[in-house]
Formats: sequence, structure tokens, C-alpha cells
Amino acid sequence: MRRSLTALVAAALAAALAALTATLAPLAALPSVASAAPPRRPAQHPLAIGTGGAVASMDVDASQAGIDVLQRGGNAIDAAVATASALGVTIPFVAGPGGGGFMVIYLARTHRVVTIDGRETCPAACTSTTFIDPATGMPYDYDYASAQPLSTGVPGMVATWAQALRLYGRRSLAADLQPAIAVAQHGFRVNRDFRQLTQSGLAELRAYPASRKLLLTTSGSPLPLGQLLRNPDLARTYRLIARHGAGYLYDGPLGRAIVRAVDHPRLTPGTQLITRPGIMTVNDLRAYRARSLPSTRVRYRGLDIYGMEPPSSGGSTIGEALNILSGWNLGSEPRALALYHYLEASRLAYADRDAWVGDPAYERVPLSGLLSPAYAATRRCLVGDHALTSPLAPGQPFPPFAGTCPAAAPASSVPATTASPELHHTNNIVTTDRAGDIVAYTNTINFFGGSGMTVPGYGFLLNNELTDFDFAPAQPGTYDPNLPAGGKEPRSSMGPVIALRDGRPQFTVGAAGGSTIITTILQTLINHVDFGMSLPAALAAPRVSQTNTSTSLAEPAFYHSALAQQLTQQYGEKFTLATGPVLPLDHYPGDATALALLGHGRVEAIAEPVRLFGGSALVVHPRR
Ligand code: GLU
Repeated sequence: MRRSLTALVAAALAAALAALTATLAPLAALPSVASAAPPRRPAQHPLAIGTGGAVASMDVDASQAGIDVLQRGGNAIDAAVATASALGVTIPFVAGPGGGGFMVIYLARTHRVVTIDGRETCPAACTSTTFIDPATGMPYDYDYASAQPLSTGVPGMVATWAQALRLYGRRSLAADLQPAIAVAQHGFRVNRDFRQLTQSGLAELRAYPASRKLLLTTSGSPLPLGQLLRNPDLARTYRLIARHGAGYLYDGPLGRAIVRAVDHPRLTPGTQLITRPGIMTVNDLRAYRARSLPSTRVRYRGLDIYGMEPPSSGGSTIGEALNILSGWNLGSEPRALALYHYLEASRLAYADRDAWVGDPAYERVPLSGLLSPAYAATRRCLVGDHALTSPLAPGQPFPPFAGTCPAAAPASSVPATTASPELHHTNNIVTTDRAGDIVAYTNTINFFGGSGMTVPGYGFLLNNELTDFDFAPAQPGTYDPNLPAGGKEPRSSMGPVIALRDGRPQFTVGAAGGSTIITTILQTLINHVDFGMSLPAALAAPRVSQTNTSTSLAEPAFYHSALAQQLTQQYGEKFTLATGPVLPLDHYPGDATALALLGHGRVEAIAEPVRLFGGSALVVHPRR
């Protein structure tokens, strides 16, 4: 029965495609690589070594899109845009025009690290009580709110692509969207990852006819493995953006369609789940600007680690933790002690992250204090011989910093909070080109499947990023830098890093997984730099994530290890089992990608070997 239904759906899709192709005749003048048959999908491998440039991402079609662009004269920035837009087709649950992200870029010619903040914004009508239920005066339930169109932020993705290319790219947005258009037009085969991610946001996807039509069977189930999925709507959307530029979204028909979808959602009859429409206007889209920001920088073991500034908490939290860790020589410590220091440094940095980091356009974020080695010293000395108790109070990252260790946890006007609960998903793309430019681009629509809402006729899902705001201060009347406001960006954990030594790039790493993004990067970094693991081994190693919570989230291989036992017995660390490297997704430290720059133009591209069924690493000229 399922098969015959599937065949019917496929036939209907083919007919729709034919009709659409006819109506799109005027667009035929655009450069296009589409042809009748789906191209052969290259094999997916998590590692590749070679020259001429490289890409790593969650998916082989997306990585191949980046490689195609590199082979056609594009640079790392072009490749990142091509990969991100193609991922919006093949893994629409974590990417695409409906989301936002942060791009960290190393420019080889000028030896500079620059960044672009393409985070979603809260519509102008947002206030600090947007996520307070007027009926009860209490904050909405987090999962409830995350399913509501109210949580859809103004998307920053396309503005980021346009800005990155305008400032640093070699080709046009129109040219870099071509591989994604081809994949959307020709289709791709549903794989295990796609099926699993569909399952994760199934209730929300089912709530919207447009999502059901695009991503589910007619009975509302995930598509079967191996099914060819075409997305002519998204192909058309990308063609229209290619032709008209980002303005087609920010000041054009696509923007109007987004606003309609968010504020007047078209629901599947009988749907009870969706009760809070959005508050977005076309003016919110018109007002959107991607921000070019400097990067954060800290010194660690002779490396310069560059990261993302607020509203990402990546650069400040990784930076503070590394500054705390600089006071110990992890490499020469017994491994359990070194990991104890890693967990405690992360706990302390997270306490500060939650208390102090918000959108700097709205809040006074004490970034230089958070990144100051002198401040880190005042935090480090709180670490004794037993795990600190979370939620731990934040410190005071304002100079002058005490030269001596405070006797106890510092008094603070800011209450202790635990990390905001975002623990869902996103993706990290890394690219490099033959000139040595590097891009690390973490982007997302927040939850797997975002809000679950497909923009009718346009073939992509909208984010539910606004639940990254705190809904209310931890205690009434206390300061909280991450409350919603009109035009404000919610705090993020997304923040990949690029490491240089003596001005020469060594590696980059970024990750997915909400608040575990930061700990995944941190742990990969110390695995590589302090414990001497190769970068692929550092990325693959079992993860443990401490985010100022009473227990640390540990993957099974770590949870069941002798080291975990030692950390519990000797240092009082506590662990919660992340229930499997693949399922369920909600308790899974996210997957990562990385590049090791090996010198003389050689690069090792690294994707996940196992998590989420593994990712794809490709190089332009494979050779050892
Ligand atoms: N919303 C998350 C953040 O910005 C990313 C999505 C996720 O992985 O939860 O940190």
C-alpha cells in the first residue's frame, strides 16, 4: 500500500515538476545546471586529504556543491554559500533560507579573521514579555513555545550569503546557488539521516499542509529510505533569489509570503498544536541587516584562537574556558585530572555566559572582561579538589580584577542560572580554497525541522530561533541580557573557531548541538592541542559536556569509561547518559566538522565519522 502511494506521490511530483518547468520558462535565461536525470551521488566519507581546497559538512551533496564551486573558480566563501544552500535542499531540517547563522572567515591575502553575524531578529513588536502567557502571567512552556510561529525570527541566512559574497566572495550569489538549484531540481535520495530528522519534528511538520506535501508521505509519515525527493519549489525560490538578489526575500514577494505564513499559518485541519501565530511584518524583513563584526581572540598554548562575538556566546565562552585552562598544563596531568579541569572550566565559563551574554546592540556585554586572562584567574582559583555545585553563580567580569582568589563563590548581583535549554540542532560547514582562505559557518533553523512550517510555494522551513531568548529572568526583577526585544537577536551557542600559530592557520572546528556546541569545540580543541590526538581522533572521541548543570551530559563511550568512574569517585563529577550516538536526538552532543591545515596547500577535511550517520569531507585534488 505504502509503495503504491509512494508511486502516486512520485508521479504527482513529476507532473507538478513538468507544469512548474513550463511556468518557469522566463527564468530559463538564468545560468542553470539542471538536466533530466539525478546525478550520481558521490560516496560519503568523513575524511579526505588533498590540495586545491576542501569542504566538510553533514551531507555529501552539500559538500559536493562546495567543491563544484571551488572547481569553477570560487573561493572558500563561495564554497560555503554553495554548501549551505545545497544543505537547505538535502537536509532542510537543519539549514536553508529560513534560518540564520554565524560565519567566521580567515582571509589569506590580508591575514585577517572577520565574521558575519546572520542571526535571526525578533520582530519589532517583540517585548520582554513576548514569551509570557497573558492568561497566566507565567512563561510559556519551552516546548510549547518552540512549536509556535511566534518563535519564528526574521531569517538572516540569505542576507549572510549576500553579504559574505559581496565583501569576500569571488562569484555572484546567482552563480553560487546553481549547485543547490540543480540538487533541488534533480532530487536526491532520502537517507537514514533525513528519515531520522523527519521523525524528530514530525508533529510540527504534520501541522502544516505545505510541510506534509513536501516532506512526508500522504499519510503523514517520514518518506521511505531511498525515495527520490525533488523540491522544485525551492529550486524556483533559489532561482528567484539568483535573479533578483536578497531583496527578493527582504523586500519582495518571498518576504510577503514568509510574513503571511508566520502570522496567518495555514494549518492541517484538526491541528491543535499551533495556537500562537507570529507577529512579523514586512518592515521587520526590510530592517534586517547581517552584521559584520570583529572576531574574539584568545591565546592558548601558543595558538591564537579566533571565534564569534556576541550575540554568539561561542567566542566568549570558549575563550574564557581556555583562559581558565591555561593555568594548568593539561597535557602533563593525569587524564582524569585534566578532564576534571576541563569540566570545571566549562562550568565556570557557562555561568558567566548565561549571566552576561546577550545581543550587544541592546546590552552592555562585558566581552573584554570575559576574555581577560586576569579575570579567568579569578575564576580558576574557585576550582578545588571537588566539583563545584551548579547552578554556579557568575563572576564579575569588570576590572580591576582581584589579584587574589575570592574566598568563596563571588557575590553577584546576577543570579545563577543554568544554560538556556537549547539542545537541538544545527550544522557546521568548513571550507578552504587553494589561496588558503578558510570559512567556518555554523547555521541553523534551530530545532530539527525548525518551526515545522514550510513557506507555501517556496519549499523551505522557517526557524523557531526566538526560543533561544530567555522567557523571563531567573528571578523576578533581576538583570537578564537575553530577554526578547524588537529587533534584538537571541543569544546563540553557535560559534566556530579558527586557530592560527604565528599567523599561520592550523585548524578550524565548529559543531552543532545547541549548548553542547561550545563544549564540543572545547573538548575537540583540548583533545588535539593538549592530549596530542590527531584532529580526526579529537573530533571522534567520546564527548562529555558541562554547561553549569548539576550533571554533565556524557556519550555512552564516555559514560561507561573508567575515566568517568574516576571523575565521579575522585572529584565528585556526576554524569547523565546521552542515550546513544544517534538516538534520541535531544540528548546528543552535536556533530562537528573540522579542517586541519597541513602546510604547503595540503588540507585534511574532517566530518563526523558516526554521529548522525556521519558527514562528508571532500577535497578538490585528493592525494596524501
Ligand atoms: N539555536 C541554537 C543556538 O543558536 C542552535 C540550534 C541548536 O543546535 O540548538 O545556539
